[in-house]
Amino acid sequence: MEKARKINDVVRLEIGEPDFDTPEHIKKAAQAAIKEGFTHYTPFAGIDELREALAEKSGVENKIDASPTGVVVTPGACSALFCSILSTIDAGDEVLLPDPGWPHYEACVKVAGGISKYYPLYEKNGFRVDVQDLEKKVNRKTRAILINSPSNPTGAVLSRKDLEGIARLAIEKDLLVFSDEVYEKIIYDSAEHVSIASLPDMKDRTVTVNSFSKTYAMTGWRVGYAIARDDIATQMAKLVLYTSTCANSFAQKAALAALKGSQDCVRKMSSEYERRRDFLVKGLNKIEGISCTIPQGAFYAFPNIRKLGMSSLDCTMWLLEKARISSVPGNGFGAHGEGYIRISFATSLANLDEATKRIGAAIENR
Ligand code: PLP
Repeated sequence: MEKARKINDVVRLEIGEPDFDTPEHIKKAAQAAIKEGFTHYTPFAGIDELREALAEKSGVENKIDASPTGVVVTPGACSALFCSILSTIDAGDEVLLPDPGWPHYEACVKVAGGISKYYPLYEKNGFRVDVQDLEKKVNRKTRAILINSPSNPTGAVLSRKDLEGIARLAIEKDLLVFSDEVYEKIIYDSAEHVSIASLPDMKDRTVTVNSFSKTYAMTGWRVGYAIARDDIATQMAKLVLYTSTCANSFAQKAALAALKGSQDCVRKMSSEYERRRDFLVKGLNKIEGISCTIPQGAFYAFPNIRKLGMSSLDCTMWLLEKARISSVPGNGFGAHGEGYIRISFATSLANLDEATKRIGAAIENR
């Protein structure tokens, strides 16, 4: 990033957030809340209306049998993850994390005094979880499995069958599951988002983490939430209290408006991401030395760059210098991310067009 800042005219493809503006009706709800003086502390697990609406949404859409007492509203999914891991993981407990996967997980486990162990995700398997690989990592210290579908950085979406396999293992080995579902609404083709907490006997052993950030282009508002067993939710709410008191009051009102309002904005953003995905993946696959699987969700492509004969980090640095595009080295997401780079398509088609042309030209002229 430091290097990118010093170069003019860089096409930014490393960004992990929607490029859309927050929908107008959501902004208006926050403005109205401020005008009405809703600018003070709220209950630390979130305002009742929002917890009730989230329990209802989780029941109707995710088929999770949630009650408002099991809903904790947090300042972003980051906080929901942090509080859920800190509430449940003791010193020495092992947590199984995806590799490649989002680096925040490892940091949360570390703060809790836990030990991160990694289960591999392979391109040949569409970056989906192979339960046999996962099972090999389980030992008597293992306390939890973390899953992330749709995935950052690979865009893979776990199928119901994948989740049934993970659930079977979690039940057999008596493990908790943290399920990060922040990209649930950004999903393509015939892929289906299934919440593992909706599977038989999984509700009580799953903490489902979600957010308004990606679904409603609300990253700066900092509203996320978790759905958990009541005793875990109670501990999590205490951690929200001691770390931040509560999520922002008027942002919670805005989140409520997001949930209760028309979902057309979500569909529109998602179909625009899909158009961009198709354009980007097609463009990348035309470039000699790059091959890219089709992501089924989120807004990241994770092309394989091995044939270019460079490491992930060298490749991103080289692309920055020669093609003036910024991307993220795959090994930043774990050892199994080596050989890949992450390209975000949360940017305009014009930028993606320019970027693929520049990458193609740089590789051709090397
Ligand atoms: N989980 C994943 C997989 C993410 O990629 C991100 C943000 O990039 C988050 C959680 C955090 O979301 P929030 O903005 O709600 O904290």
